[in-house]
Amino acid sequence: MTHPRNVAIFIGLFVTLVTALLLYFFSIIPVVKGWQWLLIVLFVTITIGSYLLLNTTLYKELDTISEMLRPFKKKEENPERNKYINTTDPILKIRTELTDFAVQKQREIEELKKLETFRREFLADVSHELKTPLFAAQGFVHTLMEGAMDDINVRDRFLQKAAYSLDGLNLLVEDLITISQLEIGEIKMHFQNFDIRKLTEDIFEQLEDTAQKRGTRLKFYKYSPKSCYIHADKLRVGQVVTNLIVNAIKYGKDNGTVLFSYVIEGESVLISVKDDGPGIEEKHLYRIFERFYRVEKSRSKDQGGSGLGLSIVKHILEAHDSRITVSSKVNEGTEFQFRLKKGKVINEKG
Ligand code: ADP
Repeated sequence: MTHPRNVAIFIGLFVTLVTALLLYFFSIIPVVKGWQWLLIVLFVTITIGSYLLLNTTLYKELDTISEMLRPFKKKEENPERNKYINTTDPILKIRTELTDFAVQKQREIEELKKLETFRREFLADVSHELKTPLFAAQGFVHTLMEGAMDDINVRDRFLQKAAYSLDGLNLLVEDLITISQLEIGEIKMHFQNFDIRKLTEDIFEQLEDTAQKRGTRLKFYKYSPKSCYIHADKLRVGQVVTNLIVNAIKYGKDNGTVLFSYVIEGESVLISVKDDGPGIEEKHLYRIFERFYRVEKSRSKDQGGSGLGLSIVKHILEAHDSRITVSSKVNEGTEFQFRLKKGKVINEKG
């Protein structure tokens, strides 16, 4: 309706009608001969004149504004919407574009607000997490300096405790660096073909002592093949598997079993780490991948975790276009699963 052609016709008709009424009122119509021609010429002139005037002034200006908005406009997926944006009616076009622009800006503002809250919470979390071990180590050192050093037993015990706290601090800082590097994409994945069984056997060996302390048995699922190649970043997948197995030992039960399985399904391999520990209540399940989220604050902290293990796992798998899933039953155990691309078998001896 607001197309310049329609507006010009409307103005033409309106002026012609008013003129006709005036001419009739002053008895010029129908007395003067050829009054019809007068009205036709008037209509055509006014319509063409208005059309040219609108196109060269108002609508040209609207086109300029529309052009100015173009760089801020994201491509709209909805074809119905594109129909409006591609319309030749400049007013309708600019109205649609301005509405889109406002909606888009509103979304961006909300996103920024969310990020700001997230950043504030993260900073508070990090400061809190850093403070705890630092405070503990500081306490031990000061107590030693104030005289506890003279008692050799107390000295050794306090030094050990201070070292333990500082080790925890170191672990936390290392995990934080890994997470931030993964998030900004600084860590590039180095994809290669490798045997997931071989990698896990090495991890089992490294974790033997930790597992033994809790009497935990580390086992492969008996139907998993003797070798299975995947295409992924070996170092990072090693980190994923280690984090999951360490958690299964830490949060599993004493003398429990951790089962590692991998099954080839088409072009991918489904990998799982399962324990028979106390499990995780459903209300916590969807949050355990968040940074610093701990199901039971005191118990997890006693185990010396940074609260970032699962968050790192999630990030690494995302960098592999994969996703970690968890299922758990209280008092029965927890299972973490993820998929990776099947790899080509390579001769590692050569
Ligand atoms: P943390 O450093 O505390 O271990 P994670 O990110 O690795 O941090 O794990 C987050 C929380 O998820 C843990 O604090 C723990 O409460 C819970 N969790 C992780 N793995 C298991 C598991 N296998 N069984 C029970 N709870 C688990």
